[in-house]
Amino acid sequence: MSICCSLICCYMSNSLKYGRVFCGVLMKAKWLVLIASLLISSAQAHAGYIEESPKLNEHIEANLKRVRLLMDLRYKGAQAILRHLRNQPILRQQGGSFYTHRATSFSGDVIIDPQAQSVSAHIRIDGKILESQTDSLAFLVFLNVTGVQTPEGEQLDFTMSELYGYPVLRVTLPQAKNRGDTFSIVVDLSGTPNCSYSGGFQVNLCAFSPILYMDMNIFLPMGLASDFATADLRISIPKGMTLAATGIVQGVTPSNANQDYEEHHVVQDFPTEARSLSAGSYDYSRIPMSPQFVGLYTTKDSFSEDIAPQVLVDIKNIIRFYEGIYGAYLFPKIEASQITDDAGAAFGWPALLWIPDSMFLMGSGHYGGEEDRTALFAHELGHQWFPDMNKSNDPLAAWLSEGFAEFSSIYYMDNAVGNGYLQGAVESYSLMYRYLVPVNQDYPLTSWQSQYVSDSMIYMLVTYYKGAVVTNMLRKVIGDDAFFGALKKLHDDIAMKEAYYDTYKLQQYLEQAYGSSLDFIFMPFVYNIGYPIYEVNVRRLEAGEDGKGRVEVKVKRTSSVAGNKFDLPMSFGVVTDVGEEVHTELVNEDEKTFVWAHDGRFVRLRVDPERVFIKRVVPKLDGDVDISGEIDGIDLIYGAWAYNGQIGGSYNFLSSVDFDANGKIDDKDLNKVLDNFGKTSEEVGQ
Ligand SMILES: [Zn+2]
Repeated sequence: MSICCSLICCYMSNSLKYGRVFCGVLMKAKWLVLIASLLISSAQAHAGYIEESPKLNEHIEANLKRVRLLMDLRYKGAQAILRHLRNQPILRQQGGSFYTHRATSFSGDVIIDPQAQSVSAHIRIDGKILESQTDSLAFLVFLNVTGVQTPEGEQLDFTMSELYGYPVLRVTLPQAKNRGDTFSIVVDLSGTPNCSYSGGFQVNLCAFSPILYMDMNIFLPMGLASDFATADLRISIPKGMTLAATGIVQGVTPSNANQDYEEHHVVQDFPTEARSLSAGSYDYSRIPMSPQFVGLYTTKDSFSEDIAPQVLVDIKNIIRFYEGIYGAYLFPKIEASQITDDAGAAFGWPALLWIPDSMFLMGSGHYGGEEDRTALFAHELGHQWFPDMNKSNDPLAAWLSEGFAEFSSIYYMDNAVGNGYLQGAVESYSLMYRYLVPVNQDYPLTSWQSQYVSDSMIYMLVTYYKGAVVTNMLRKVIGDDAFFGALKKLHDDIAMKEAYYDTYKLQQYLEQAYGSSLDFIFMPFVYNIGYPIYEVNVRRLEAGEDGKGRVEVKVKRTSSVAGNKFDLPMSFGVVTDVGEEVHTELVNEDEKTFVWAHDGRFVRLRVDPERVFIKRVVPKLDGDVDISGEIDGIDLIYGAWAYNGQIGGSYNFLSSVDFDANGKIDDKDLNKVLDNFGKTSEEVGQ
């Protein structure tokens, strides 16, 4: 008898005593089990995990690559500094003296010299006072301030000081103002900005060459309460450069100040919290998206030229899709500009995306494929809603932007390419969170700690990926209609208005749509860390009086971290030879037993078949990979397939075979299948 036949024999006769002894001897030779993979094609009908495994592992690997690509991810723009500062004791205790005002419009002239890497600006700020008895105004500034005056030309006193490493300009008002009053001042600034600013923490704000890109707060003094402002700026840059901005470039005229420069008139008549520009030797292309348009600034090379038409259409499709689920796109245009890789990441500024070269060129022989590029644009365009239109003032919850943008991306991709994209992404993000975030580095999505994460890989895995999984979890639990309905209402209430939301308000909107408390998701998954662990045992029971088969499922619930409790509505798919029946039960006790009648013959149990929750499922019967109640040939095939697999490093890793959850399928895991081969859940007891 050949080895191959022996294995088939084991598979065929696994429940027979003689087969078990015979097979047991053979099975000890590890190399033999690898041959079991030959059986996979014939057993594929049962081997659901295996069909999905290569795709899932590919997903994990691709996402890890993406994390590494963004490894030098810095916090984005001056907005990140604000969020950081708001968590500091002085602002928490004496916020009033810093949250003095909010700008409502910026206007003036700016000259940028990319060669000298210098900027000079003459900026008028109009705004309103937020606190009574305000006699001075505080601004964050990133250039030297050379003068402050009233619009009438009266010089105003000002001082410079440091706040947690960031320069703060304080302007004394001629007389004290009260809440609701307006003010106007004119500030002159100049100098060479520190683009990779490391005050309290590292922030990327600008670069000068070969592409010029800049957070406009480099030259627009920034209020510490969020500005919500329009802009009308005349920006001079050297001739030959094309300017892209959050506002619309209305016209280009020769500069009066310098004959080698041109003045670009940028009008942003819609208010935003943040704004940016980029400039270079660009090609510009545009398609209509009535009543708005899509514009694209690309570098002059054949790669970019080839990709541009598809990118324009992609952007339009994505915007239209989000309008359907989140509410109207309210900016008058959407544009994207290609920038250099030193930005470290793509940025989703209001009405303008910055896309680094290597990400823009995905799918043209560079890293990744066209799908990755579309997914990236879908993430950045998700930011147009979260937070550009739907503004968050929650200083503890970057996931409201990043988790929602990432969810938007995988939800869009699922719609565009199908093929289980969303479920694959959610499953891979869940596994990455479970395996690659050590408990001592984990932090709740909404928390003080989330603002002090130094490891950008951990930050990505938690704030972006777990954030996306929890967003999807909320959608699955309350249903698409309620979920998107709540987000549309949020959009109606705050988009383009001087209104903000935070984690608490988000929960309120969702609960109103759901009709009941969502504490059971927010408490354990948003305000705490970890995930539930379910030890599951299944037993086939005698048929009931109706002659139907019955299965008993015992669930023992624990948690990956002490002190976090998960009371979740968990779905169980009872898979039989005639189909699958799904039962959703509230698992709110540490031990629960369910008995379900079913048609046909019981094959296996699938816990959370739609992958709604981050969780770990462990069979009580050691080695029962597919939770069928017995360790049989199928478990052996899974074991053989996954043998030597590692999380993030191989195509064949299966978390269901990783009984000790150490991230690799080693001899210890395999022995659980081999040593217990033929055992049933009856034998291990209940
Ligand atoms: Zn993002």
